Amino acid sequence: MPFLTEAEPPRGVPLDVLPGIRRIVARNPSVMTYQGTNTYLIEGAEGLSVLDPGPDDSQHVQDILAVAGSVPVRRILLTHTHRDHFGAVAALRAATGAPVHAYRYSAKPGFTPDRPLGDGDDVAGLTAIFTPGHAADHLCFALRDGPRKILFSGDHVMSWSSSIVSPPDGDMLAYYRSLERLLDRDDELYLSGHGPALPEPQTLVRELLAHRQRREATILRQLDQQDWSVAALAERLYAKADPYLKVAAQRNVLAHLLKLTEEGRAAELEPATELPADAPQISALPGEVQHDALRRFGLVR
Ligand SMILES: [Zn+2]
Repeated sequence: MPFLTEAEPPRGVPLDVLPGIRRIVARNPSVMTYQGTNTYLIEGAEGLSVLDPGPDDSQHVQDILAVAGSVPVRRILLTHTHRDHFGAVAALRAATGAPVHAYRYSAKPGFTPDRPLGDGDDVAGLTAIFTPGHAADHLCFALRDGPRKILFSGDHVMSWSSSIVSPPDGDMLAYYRSLERLLDRDDELYLSGHGPALPEPQTLVRELLAHRQRREATILRQLDQQDWSVAALAERLYAKADPYLKVAAQRNVLAHLLKLTEEGRAAELEPATELPADAPQISALPGEVQHDALRRFGLVR
C-alpha cells in the first residue's frame, strides 16, 4: 500500500500546510493514532475555523488557542466523534464560544452539534460530505474555491494507514460505498486526521478498496473450508503481535463478516464458547469486544 510516513513533528507549534491552512499535531501518538491527531486551523473569508479539536488534553487546547492568537475562532468543525478528535471539543468550545458543526445524527451518546450538518451542506467555504464506514457520523470536508482541490478526509482515508472499521459504529458496507464516493471526485490533496498531506489521493483510495476486496475474497475462501470464530479468523489472517492491533484486526474481520452476512453470502452461527488459546491477552478486554470475538460465521451455500 502506498502509505506515507513522517518524522515526529514538533508539538505545540503550527505546521504550514498551504496558505491559510495550518496543522497542529496533538500529543497522543500511538499504534492507532500514528504521530497524533491532526488539528487544522483554516482561515477563510468567514474567519478562522478549527477542524477536529483533538483529544481531551488541556495542553493541546492551549496550543490551539496560542496558535490562533488574537484571531477569534469562529467555528469548530468535526469529522467524527471518536475521542481522539472529539475529546477537546468541550474545552475549546468553552474557551472560544464557537459553535460546533458536525453530522446531524451524532454517534456519541449525549452529544448534539450546535450546527447539525447533512450531506452537501456548506459551511464557511467547505462542503460536508457524508462518509460513514470508519464512524457512523463521519464527514469529510471539501474546500471550495481553494488554490487546489483539497479534501479534509478525517479518518475515512488516512495517509499513513488503513482505517479500522469497528461495528456497530463502523460499517464495512458503508465504508466501501464511502470509498467509492471519493473515487467519483477529483480532489488533488487529502489532509487527513492522522499523518502528512496526501497528494494524488485517488491512487490510495483505489488501493484501500482493492485491499478490502482482496481481504474479503480471502475470508470467503477460509469460510469455504470451515466455519470460523472472529478471533480465530483474525489470528489466521493478520497474526498481529501487538495486543491492540490484534483487537483492531478482530474488529475489521467482524466488519467483513457482517457485510457478507448483510449481503446474504455468510450467516452467523451459535457463538464459540471460549477464545482460542492464542487470542489476544489484554487485561479487562471490554465485554462487547470479548463477546464479538466469540461470534462465529459460516458460508451460505
Ligand atoms: Zn482519529
